[in-house]
Amino acid sequence: MSPTGEASQPIVIAGAGIGGLTAALALQRQGHEIILMDKAQELSEVGAGLQLSPNACSVLNDLDVLEALEPHAYAPERLRIWSGASGQQLAQVSLGSFIKNRHGHPFWVIHRADLQRVLLERATESPGITVQLSTEVQNIAASPYDGLACAFQNSEQTGSTNCKALIGADGVWSKTRQIVPSHENAQFSGQVAYRATVPMDQVSHKWALDSGLWLQKNSHLVHYPVRGGRELNIVALVEEDWQDQTWSTKADRETVLHVFKEWPTDIRNLIAAPETWLKWALCSVNASGPWSHGHMALIGDAAHAMLPYMAQGAAMAIEDAAVLANCLPLTVENIPAALREYERLRKPRAARIQGVAQRNAQIFHFSGVPAFARDTVLRLSNPEKLAARFDDIYGWSPEQ
Ligand SMILES: Cc1cc2nc3c(=O)[nH]c(=O)nc-3n(C[C@H](O)[C@H](O)[C@H](O)COP(=O)(O)OP(=O)(O)OC[C@H]3O[C@@H](n4cnc5c(N)ncnc54)[C@H](O)[C@@H]3O)c2cc1C
Repeated sequence: MSPTGEASQPIVIAGAGIGGLTAALALQRQGHEIILMDKAQELSEVGAGLQLSPNACSVLNDLDVLEALEPHAYAPERLRIWSGASGQQLAQVSLGSFIKNRHGHPFWVIHRADLQRVLLERATESPGITVQLSTEVQNIAASPYDGLACAFQNSEQTGSTNCKALIGADGVWSKTRQIVPSHENAQFSGQVAYRATVPMDQVSHKWALDSGLWLQKNSHLVHYPVRGGRELNIVALVEEDWQDQTWSTKADRETVLHVFKEWPTDIRNLIAAPETWLKWALCSVNASGPWSHGHMALIGDAAHAMLPYMAQGAAMAIEDAAVLANCLPLTVENIPAALREYERLRKPRAARIQGVAQRNAQIFHFSGVPAFARDTVLRLSNPEKLAARFDDIYGWSPEQ
């Protein structure tokens, strides 16, 4: 690419999910012009709950979006851990004010659609960011005229736009990952998630304040308030051989009740509350695989989709966006080197947290003696010490 004119070219971001939108805002702050393309016709109300730990909130605070998110978020004071076999509480983990005081930023739970909408509103009102929906990014290649061109397909045409870099933020089934030599494809984990949200007044008041984590043989269940506390998000995770690439396959209530037939009545009542459930296959992308190639790099799930057992998928995409922008000041002279540096900085942390989530998948689903040992350790644990075990995850900030 000729150096002349490169600085004035836009950066194309493939995917206006949580990672792509955050990257657009962070890179725009560095002075770059951004074209943000998403293949979806509209960024509609899809998804359910996400956990935004302090490491993610630290980035969102730097981007001045935390205040706009606050009315949609909920800060649970604690996570209660229960036995899905006996129905008894095993332990509590301090969240709320304990985490805020310890790390300087809140621990929030939020509906994905609320987070995406607030980020999108901020992106569309930011000069220098153009959002193009119904536009699928295909590739990046040397332009026949000068520099690089990003190929895309929309409802009317196959086109291309000149750019200085392509950021692949296109999720677990990433198309842009195919550009990276020796890339690894997403792998099905053998586990699926059933998820639903239900108005808070349709469930017992006892679930309204805290987050809950229920552990059982080969399955577990998580619930927490979203939409500022007006709805309850419920995710039931089981080992099941079912593979699908969408986020919106419907499951009926009877199916979920059947899967959880041996669970305590309290939980079966909770499962019976939502009329419809969505089902999605849990997949991961090996975080130790390659993330960048020349003028393109991957962020978020495209680079390192992980099981949701540390609730860090969205947080890692948000962290990636901040580090990427720090590596790409407007004056950057060697973009491929800057993208390699981004990959070098991010990969160990993403791979480590992916590993923690993978280990939790086993621990959460223990049965027999290992489950008894796990439950005994949890019963003897102190709520603040349990929370402090995650200091290295929650205490991260972009300056590190
Ligand atoms: C519809 C949807 C619902 C979700 N619901 C939940 C949920 O309820 N709870 C939860 O914990 N996580 C959910 N997730 C996953 C969660 O958002 C991600 O794990 C996390 O936020 C990381 O985000 P990401 O930006 O890397 O990828 P994603 O959030 O997956 O975003 C990827 C985006 O890229 C777009 N895209 C894909 N291919 C292309 C292409 N070739 N060109 C242009 N655009 C492309 C997609 O339309 C999507 O908007 C959901 C993701 C999606 C896409």
